[in-house]
Amino acid sequence: MEKIIIALDGHSSCGKSTTAKRVAAKLGYAFIDTGAMYRAVSLYFHEHHITLTNPIEVAKALENIHITFHFNEARGASDVFLNGLNVETEIRKMYISQLVSEVSAITAVRKAMVAQQQKMAKHRGVVMDGRDIGTKVFPDAEVKVFMTADPVVRAERRQKELLDKGEIVDLDEILANLQKRDIIDSTREEGPLVQAVDAVLMDTSFMTLDEQVEFVILQHDLVKAK
Ligand code: C5P
Repeated sequence: MEKIIIALDGHSSCGKSTTAKRVAAKLGYAFIDTGAMYRAVSLYFHEHHITLTNPIEVAKALENIHITFHFNEARGASDVFLNGLNVETEIRKMYISQLVSEVSAITAVRKAMVAQQQKMAKHRGVVMDGRDIGTKVFPDAEVKVFMTADPVVRAERRQKELLDKGEIVDLDEILANLQKRDIIDSTREEGPLVQAVDAVLMDTSFMTLDEQVEFVILQHDLVKAK
């Protein structure tokens, strides 16, 4: 069997991107962080004061948004670029986390991003993490893992990540943000966050990163062995 698609979906901050990045490196696959794409769109909307309820403004903005990924040797991962500018650091900030789920609930935004994600992985051999990869972007993905974890554990992990980047945020604020995003993500009409019927569930509350990576690689190996 040729290279396959590995879809990692799930709740916010349960280790999807970190796991996906490691799995991709182990397999020699590309890693695509679709959350970064929605975050980049949110940054553009924020900077250009786009009214989310105005479909004409949204459509026009989407025409002017070009998102690319470029490998950053120092980080050992790809940075996201918005119209040629590296926005990797900016999109991880809390004010973008506060906005991103509302932006990504807009149908036009989802259609544009899904089309781009499908193009990016047309040769397969990718690990893609997000919310709707196994259900909407690649319903035919050979490996589908749905990740979740205890909300407090997720908030603590997120707080540490932000702290490592120099942003001090209250645990309650992070917890509220994660829970709000999960609700918006799960209840939107287009591409809601839902476990695909053929996805394997992985609760990372008590798992180390190595164990998460091993679990996904095992799913990959099982498919390959068929
Ligand atoms: O993965 P991350 O937490 O960075 O994603 C940020 C937000 O982007 C999510 O809360 C969700 O609203 C949105 N998203 C999405 N569909 C994806 C990936 C992310 O709606 N495939």
